Amino acid sequence: MAQQTNRKTFLKNAVVAGAGLLVGENLIKAEPTKKKKPNSVAVNKPIVLSTWDFGLEANVAAWEILSKKGRALDAVEAGVKVPEADPTERSVGYGGRPDRDGRVTLDACIMDELANIGSVACLEHIKHPISVARAVMEKTPHVMLVGDGALSFALSQGFVKENLLVPESEKEWKQWLIKSDYKPEANIENHDTIGMIALDEMGNLSGACTTSGMAFKMHGRVGDSPIIGAGLYVDNEVGAATATGQGEEVIRIVGCHLVVELMRMGYTPYDACKEAVERVVKLMERRNKDPKLIQVGFIALNKQGMHGAYCVQNGFTYAKYDSNGNKIQAADYKIYVPRKK
Ligand code: ASP
Repeated sequence: MAQQTNRKTFLKNAVVAGAGLLVGENLIKAEPTKKKKPNSVAVNKPIVLSTWDFGLEANVAAWEILSKKGRALDAVEAGVKVPEADPTERSVGYGGRPDRDGRVTLDACIMDELANIGSVACLEHIKHPISVARAVMEKTPHVMLVGDGALSFALSQGFVKENLLVPESEKEWKQWLIKSDYKPEANIENHDTIGMIALDEMGNLSGACTTSGMAFKMHGRVGDSPIIGAGLYVDNEVGAATATGQGEEVIRIVGCHLVVELMRMGYTPYDACKEAVERVVKLMERRNKDPKLIQVGFIALNKQGMHGAYCVQNGFTYAKYDSNGNKIQAADYKIYVPRKK
């Protein structure tokens, strides 16, 4: 018992001493613990951000939901479904360019404020892969389904099997077959992705990302877009980010998770996107690859509704819809590459 009291006394003294910091002989008094001030930064919400010019129309569908105090999750799904359904958007959903075997294979993922995630990769014949990804999230014990398994699941959920190869894409593919020359080419519209991130009236973040990937890719190739952490990441305490461009380079740095973690460390969304791009470029240079030959762009949103974007080379645009309206903005870039007219 006496021993116990001594131990208690020792612990009590240790706690008191712990209130200061011993440096050599000197005891530096610690600051009294201050009560945390309530966050005084005004929150800009709701807000939705999406990649490329087609983000403008997609944002309108998302805003319909956000402006009525709807969930960010519903908003991002509804938003990205717009280019998915548009046959003239040749890099997403219906109308997307096929792989080198002439097959349209789609990738998508979705993430909500509770870190619920769902994803599909190499999915054929379904116009809205984002909704299949959401069904994976909500109706299965898994987070990712691919290929035939994803298709069977989609059909079991009532999705309809369709031909997604539009005549224009088929023509381009046949043209491509003549030379069968596969190399990544930035900004020539043979690949793009709609990534969308939103903060709703309740202060919750969600994101969605969907693409047909690189045109004329090898059959079975999967890019960053359906990979949580690479093409999309959401942390409701911190922020959200999504990516577009050469997926292989985004996966290499686990791009969107990196952007969110940088924001957690205090980076602004702009600085976080810039740092991620710097890393893409640095790793390419280390491997003697020319970053001028590719594009990668990130967009990010933090919990206060501040946003930012950055890309490897000029040409990447994104759309922002908040109380100031719906606008296209050109992202800042690391490398200037003159375009041929
Ligand atoms: N990130 C997509 C992919 O690599 C393509 C793109 O966004 O341009 O599949």
